[in-house]
Amino acid sequence: MKKSSIIVVLAVFVIVSLFGVNRSVHAEFIDVPSRASKEVQYLSTGGIAHGSSATTFGAEKKVTRMEAAAFIGRALQLNGKKRNTNFKDVGSGIFASGYIQSAVETGILSGYDGGRFLPYKEVTRGEMAVMLSKAFGYQFGGKLSGAANALTTRGIAKGLSDGTFGADQYIKRSDFAVFLARAINPELRTKAFSSYKKTLWTNTGDLNVRTGPSVSYASVGKLAKDVKVIGAHSIAGWTYIKSGRLTGFVSTAYLRDTEILKAERPPAEVDKRIAGQTIILDPGHGGSDPGAVGFGVREKDVVLSTGLKVNNLLKQTPFKVKMTRSDDRFITINQRSSFARKNGGSVFVSIHANASSSPGAKGTETIYYSAANPHGADSKLLAAKIQDRMVKAWRLSNRGIKSTRQLGRSLGVLNNNSVPAALAELGFITNKSENQKLKSDYWQTVMAKAIYDGILDYYKAKGYKVDSFYSIK
Ligand SMILES: [Zn+2]
Repeated sequence: MKKSSIIVVLAVFVIVSLFGVNRSVHAEFIDVPSRASKEVQYLSTGGIAHGSSATTFGAEKKVTRMEAAAFIGRALQLNGKKRNTNFKDVGSGIFASGYIQSAVETGILSGYDGGRFLPYKEVTRGEMAVMLSKAFGYQFGGKLSGAANALTTRGIAKGLSDGTFGADQYIKRSDFAVFLARAINPELRTKAFSSYKKTLWTNTGDLNVRTGPSVSYASVGKLAKDVKVIGAHSIAGWTYIKSGRLTGFVSTAYLRDTEILKAERPPAEVDKRIAGQTIILDPGHGGSDPGAVGFGVREKDVVLSTGLKVNNLLKQTPFKVKMTRSDDRFITINQRSSFARKNGGSVFVSIHANASSSPGAKGTETIYYSAANPHGADSKLLAAKIQDRMVKAWRLSNRGIKSTRQLGRSLGVLNNNSVPAALAELGFITNKSENQKLKSDYWQTVMAKAIYDGILDYYKAKGYKVDSFYSIK
């Protein structure tokens, strides 16, 4: 057989196998009570809930924390690839290890003291309410009663016959499935709850409206191009919309929030000065200098990957961007401070993580140099704008902005710089919980957007037109 024919045959085989897996989703599990059958079927169709065997769902079994992580993780399409986790009791071999790690990184679940997750611990109705509130972004004031209320007002859960929510009672798999399905699809809820809040327009014709947030769900209708719809919540890249009598999920990528297509808009006035600005990004340390180390995490790695993410964001704008280092190499302080001058830099942003011998030391701060520097005021402005965004992004303690004089330290990378310069200390690598954020790819992305938006805030304050470039609108 010719090589190309083999590839075709293999491709067909793969497609048929994939199709076969989808089709083998169970029509009905024999142990699911009728009150939950529609919802279990709904989750099963989307590959969100799996049976405990070919014919049974394990409907009466209590939900464990790892099962809850898998249910929610599949619904939100979090990264479920089995891997090492933050927890000593969740090895990479556990089926839900990937979902547990992703759910923790996105703040939906958290662990217990002593670095444990307790994967086999059973989940109560109250805990379920908190998990779903966090997963779907319901305001609940951090309280169990608030989470119960968030679910009941939306018609996702009902109280028990005794008038309480039954927060301490363990929840069965079938009931968890009911609540999760209702959170995803408003049509399964016990009462109408309008969360339509956005007016959107379709970007493409022949757009499928589906019963659930993935292509596994059936299409219930199609929308033409440039049709106005109203949007409710979004899940994993899908938005629940209403258009006339049609309701369902459409891919968010095919929706826009302005009536007129970008291309048809009068060309936006481009601030030509932006292309003349070069942002210098300076991830600290590198090579033989690991920087601070906490819980096995090295500052040089964290600040490089965060810096590269800021770099990627800036590259999508007319701003020019240069990095003092974009790989794991050692550079001296003098090389860093002269880099901006040699490379036509306009502003200089150094990225670091803090460290302390006291494990309780915590928070985010930004440092600038003010004395005897023609850019003192601009450096302070740059530091303030970046600090503000960083604190909002990670919600760590706000240690504020500090001049090198206040800090009582001379930082050559700032003092000897020839342009407005700021040094961001993202958080303490020596603090257990801040260390978790520092090493997390998800939180690094969040922080990179914050630093990027902070740089834009600086330029906006200086009178530049940067509104169209923000990562967080
Ligand atoms: Zn450092």
